[in-house]
Amino acid sequence: MVILLSGLITRAQTTIIRDPFIEKMVKEVSADSLQSYINQLVKFGTRHTLSTVTDPKKGIGAARNWVVQKFTEFAQKTNGRMTAFVDTTTLQPDGRRVNKPVNLGNAMAILKGADPADKRVFLISGHLDSRVTDIMNATAAAPGANDDASGVAAVLESARILSQTNYPATIIFVAVSGEEQGLLGAGYLAEKAKKEGWQLEAVLNNDIMGSNNSSETNIIDNTRLRVFSEGLPVYELDKNAATIRNMGLENDGASRQLARYVKEIGERYVDQLEIKLIYRNDRFLRGGDHTPFIQRGFAAVRITEMNENFYHQHQDIRKENGIQYGDLQEFMDFEYLRKNTAVNLACLANLAGSPGLPQEVKIDVKNLTNSSYLYWKTPAVGKPKGYYVLIRETSEAQWQKKFFTTETALRLPYSKDNYFFAVQSVSENGQESLAVVPQVGR
Ligand SMILES: [Zn+2]
Repeated sequence: MVILLSGLITRAQTTIIRDPFIEKMVKEVSADSLQSYINQLVKFGTRHTLSTVTDPKKGIGAARNWVVQKFTEFAQKTNGRMTAFVDTTTLQPDGRRVNKPVNLGNAMAILKGADPADKRVFLISGHLDSRVTDIMNATAAAPGANDDASGVAAVLESARILSQTNYPATIIFVAVSGEEQGLLGAGYLAEKAKKEGWQLEAVLNNDIMGSNNSSETNIIDNTRLRVFSEGLPVYELDKNAATIRNMGLENDGASRQLARYVKEIGERYVDQLEIKLIYRNDRFLRGGDHTPFIQRGFAAVRITEMNENFYHQHQDIRKENGIQYGDLQEFMDFEYLRKNTAVNLACLANLAGSPGLPQEVKIDVKNLTNSSYLYWKTPAVGKPKGYYVLIRETSEAQWQKKFFTTETALRLPYSKDNYFFAVQSVSENGQESLAVVPQVGR
């Protein structure tokens, strides 16, 4: 719905239109399933990266084998489209948080896209490893229920449900290892993606997403979820600094566009949840598994709960002054985790079913004019029913309007001096691609 008042964009009612199939899948996300995965993951005692990989019941080796076993169960009804494996590498001592050669393994499942011509990849991750107070302690009980069995549970539940789909693009589900020792599993995977030239268009990193309260503030809140995104990753700055400065695009990098997408699609499909965009790569001076991907030129965001509880994070299990420390499942809110998982599922489904990105998106600058003329080429893959041209005020965080067109060009009576624009392709079912910011067209 578009309301025009004196040529200004004003706030209008938002119409929620859900694809019934995605809506149905979102309803399948189950708090009970999520809880059962976490109950199993904490049974491995510790999932520390330096813990045993040979014990069948304890340690990270048993944990990663179990994750692959779950993936393999889900893969059974996919006619071979989904495959699961532990992707291992050997790490040498690094003088920091790795003090002996380590067999590091990411537990992965790849759901191949139904269209062989479609090379797009979308990836969801959580980290399997856990820790206690001493980062080098590989034997103490480290349940890691929230950090980050919650993220791994979201990965598993998404794999369970999305394995039934037939979208053209590929989805990768991964429980990485080595996060706490320095983002090592994610670094290994991101490097592989770069070396092998994957067309990896979005990474959703889920880390600490199932607890609804903070340690100091007594705030209890399971209706908000944070998405961290970097405004100007080095790869964009290095390539395009002059353009970014000329066009004022400091808030329109690829990871920021992905974060906006997560907010829009997450809130479209998941009720009673507000997605808070945090304009920062990660929490203050802290890190996560999306960062190695960003460093290698991919769009990636961190999805994490609203209020962290530091009594339950990176702590030995103990009681002190009446306070229970340790990352135990009793402190989790599985209904909150259900909603946060559903955000991931809705985004992955919407992305994997969308047509490819509109190509060569341009904004015309041949003549000085107070209107804006955008034009583009059809995507390399997929058959869009049309395109959305997005528009927002320069001071606005989120896209405000979507104009639909079946053409590959649109003139809007809004001056490019005063607004930002982007273009998305949209499928027959209303699944839109990520937004592409126009380049200058002469
Ligand atoms: Zn973590």
